[in-house]
Amino acid sequence: MTVTTGAQGTPVALPDAWLSARGLNRQAVFDLATLPADILAMLAPQADERQLILLGHGGRRLWDCVLESEIGGADPIDDYTQANLARWFAERLPGKRYRLLYPGNVPIGLQSLGRLAGWHHATPFMLGIDAHWGTWYAYRAVLLADTDFPAFSEVDRDNPCLSCAAQPCIAACPAQALGGAAFDLPACIAQRLRADSACAFACPARLACPVGPEHRYSSAQMAHSYGISLAMLREYAARTG
Ligand code: SF4
Ligand code: SF4
Repeated sequence: MTVTTGAQGTPVALPDAWLSARGLNRQAVFDLATLPADILAMLAPQADERQLILLGHGGRRLWDCVLESEIGGADPIDDYTQANLARWFAERLPGKRYRLLYPGNVPIGLQSLGRLAGWHHATPFMLGIDAHWGTWYAYRAVLLADTDFPAFSEVDRDNPCLSCAAQPCIAACPAQALGGAAFDLPACIAQRLRADSACAFACPARLACPVGPEHRYSSAQMAHSYGISLAMLREYAARTG
């Protein structure tokens, strides 16, 4: 396998410090030929696409970068991510092409990719967790590219939930959505839609988790992220009565 080279012919490998400095500090690359058939079928790769690149953020750096960029708009995180991806290819990988699948309309199983990358272990409230970041990370981009990076992902850290005897997240959920055999999504949604709900712009269960507290999002970042999902829930509730 050849190594993808940058603007001056210098090798560009993942993890890439250029991306990390801009808050896109979780990175994985897969050769398409190594992906499970069901995932590959969903991606419908084109002839020259050889690799899948998965980007995420962990902790607070991305949100700080987004604020510094003053990018604005309804979804500044997505806009910021896409602008920096375009710059990354133009400046660091000239001649290489990519096609963005996420954010976008292609149905992508982000948690399946996260599981393959070693990022995702399910919590009782169904977000992913790992021993370093806790639940304070998210998927930011999935792209197919004609790159030749050596395949890369972070070390798969163990699931901290397996050794969490106290499970404070379960008691912290005001809807008791976590105590049963499976996560009670309707109860969670109903709780979030209540007037003055503590779950409108945050998840108390997530906040109660003791893993990775130094990476916890600021209240402004949480209000932004949960505000987007709350608006979708309200819109859906209004449509379906
Ligand atoms: S509180 Fe414990 S069980 Fe709940 S998400 Fe955190 S580590 Fe997992
Ligand atoms: S948002 Fe609220 S109801 Fe939903 S899981 Fe979190 S704490 Fe429970």
